[in-house]
Amino acid sequence: MRVLIADDDSSYRRLLEAILRYRGYEILEAPDGQAAWNMLQNESIPFVITDWMMPGLDGPALINRIRQAQFPHYTYIILLTARGGQDDIVGGLQSGADDYLTKPCDLGELRARVAIGERILDLEMRLREAMGKLEMLATYDSLTGLLNRRALIQLANREIARAQRESSPLSAIMMDLDYFKQINDRHGHLIGDQALMLLATLIKRGKREYDLAGRWGGEEFFIVLPGAMLGEAESVAERLREEINNSPIHLTNQELVYFHSSFGIAGLDMEENDDSFQKLVLHADIALYQAKNSGRDRVCIFSPEAKD
Ligand code: GH3
Ligand code: MG
Ligand code: MG
Repeated sequence: MRVLIADDDSSYRRLLEAILRYRGYEILEAPDGQAAWNMLQNESIPFVITDWMMPGLDGPALINRIRQAQFPHYTYIILLTARGGQDDIVGGLQSGADDYLTKPCDLGELRARVAIGERILDLEMRLREAMGKLEMLATYDSLTGLLNRRALIQLANREIARAQRESSPLSAIMMDLDYFKQINDRHGHLIGDQALMLLATLIKRGKREYDLAGRWGGEEFFIVLPGAMLGEAESVAERLREEINNSPIHLTNQELVYFHSSFGIAGLDMEENDDSFQKLVLHADIALYQAKNSGRDRVCIFSPEAKD
């Protein structure tokens, strides 16, 4: 682990360095607060041991800057001070230090306190990892890796607000596998799952980086295309439809299972400001049902007349 020692007393820096390096820490040194601050901004340093009194930026001021900076990781800080009065200690901790040591410090105590800091940083890292995993689980559908419905709604609303603000177009595709129940019934649920995964791969490959693609329900998917007019969304859907038709699943007995999909397209109504997302979904759904009812394996665009 990297530890930065900020102290204007070079003999003290040497001493701490020797002890901590011996313990396997990677040591960086700064002769004053400003130099320490410069290093902290340019490198990722999770652990700081800083002297209180230094020329220019002193210990508490340095700590203050670190706490304001909100680095992506936590910075554990030990304040090293010759001032051992009760008020000084309280003041030092209040400036944002995690711990303090009074000079001259007992070397055993120094080691023990650095080990405490290391333990806390380790906990913090594991917590951050766990939170990252939870966020993944809360955002993505576990089978297909596409956005789940909740995340899709959240992100789509953001894109819609942006489109309305910038008066730019936005289209959406609602798609649903055709006769998917038959695939499950004939070949089993696992092959059905495989079809859903393959479909997700084709969607990911066919969409632009800033398009949002999510699993809306069982075998239903929703794609939001910011900046796209209806015609562009139609081309995307048409291309995807053909790709799906040309991408059968290979069974172990060499049999090929083909599957197909129907698509409904709708665009954002620029006049509307309320319930835009719900309306977009509703209209794409109406178009999808039109595609289903007119024979499946096709793309239909929502038209207001079809609503009634
Ligand atoms: P349609 O063309 O009208 O859409 O017919 P369909 O059979 O696709 O539609 P229906 O709604 O009758 O059936 C959907 C099927 O999708 C039923 C359900 O078992 C299946 N399904 C939903 N989620 C999953 C899943 O995660 N894995 C698998 N294998 N099947 C799923
Ligand atoms: Mg279906
Ligand atoms: Mg369905």
